[in-house]
Amino acid sequence: DLFYRQLPKVELHAHLNGSVSFSTIEKLVARKPHLNIEHGMTAIRSGQRRTLDESAVDYPEFHTLTTECISQMCFQVFKVIHQLVDTEEDILMVAKDVIREFAADGVKYLELRSTPRKEKTTGMTKRRYVETVIEAIRQCKNEGVDIEVRFLVAVDRRNGAEVAMETVKLAEDFMLSTGGLVVGLDLSGDPTVGHGRDFLPALQKAKNCGLKLSLHLSEVPSQADESELLLNIPPDRIGHGTFLHPEVGGSQSLVDKVRKHNTPLELCLTSNVKGQTVSSYSQHHFLYWYQMGHPSVICTDDKGVFCTDLSQEYQLAASTFNLSQEDMWTLSHKAIDCTFAPDLQQQLHQKWLELQPTLF
Ligand code: 5GP
Repeated sequence: DLFYRQLPKVELHAHLNGSVSFSTIEKLVARKPHLNIEHGMTAIRSGQRRTLDESAVDYPEFHTLTTECISQMCFQVFKVIHQLVDTEEDILMVAKDVIREFAADGVKYLELRSTPRKEKTTGMTKRRYVETVIEAIRQCKNEGVDIEVRFLVAVDRRNGAEVAMETVKLAEDFMLSTGGLVVGLDLSGDPTVGHGRDFLPALQKAKNCGLKLSLHLSEVPSQADESELLLNIPPDRIGHGTFLHPEVGGSQSLVDKVRKHNTPLELCLTSNVKGQTVSSYSQHHFLYWYQMGHPSVICTDDKGVFCTDLSQEYQLAASTFNLSQEDMWTLSHKAIDCTFAPDLQQQLHQKWLELQPTLF
């Protein structure tokens, strides 16, 4: 729908390597034919999520998966993409393509997040990884791409507390040396691995040095203890928060904590439905928080892996929950206040007001 494409939008939850489009994957595959990777291994198309038999067509290695751990499939997909993206040239291309694609979809402000990766075989270091993403952001700016981009350095919980602390130091260095392009820290990675308590010192340090915190929280059931701990920090935004509220096994005390700090939620409808933590679009927790008037921002998570874009996510939310174009306008406008770039907020509000008459 043209309205949603033209609607100016803010994207706050986008993992770089999960956002790689089909056309970029094709370019990467052509660079590395020896890997024998097909597109079916880097994306989860609609229909694939329903039965294991279906997914097994494209994912022969996942034959033995049980339904309970089908969302683990998403993490297998990232392994494949990481094989394809392992040099500085790859990172530069991927980041520039992703930024241009978000801009073409009407995103005016983008916060990208990515886990710095060291690749022994190609000599890529974590520092060069971040520098290359920053270079991509600068090049897009110089080329006049109509989008403001900021970067969150991601901590993958699978790598443990020590790496988390190193990552915070790296993020702090870049926050200072990039003049504010690096604005925060993300905690992500397989939610079933490790415990949030191990990351408290690193997260606290990040917060103390001025990095904003966006934490994946209650993404899977039975994480109430961990969420309680992490919410006490408190984070500046919450990724997913699927199982926070009492109706799905969370608790009122968790909801109260989120409400007390007015912590915005980053909500990714298609990601949660395809990842099967939410049974259908209409069951998505967007409704719970939206009805309460709580700051809720619609995001894509991994637009490449889940074959979506932000316009489509806005349109899906509108059609699923019967919201008007005006409601969706307000939603995208309010998202500006949830960004980690206070210096840009006034300018973005201005942009929204200029674009409004062309929409209605
Ligand atoms: P990258 O950090 O390499 O740019 O993007 C891929 C990584 O983002 C994955 O390896 C994973 O750590 C993280 N990620 C992407 N999507 C999700 C998600 O839905 N949930 C969690 N917890 N982590 C994710």
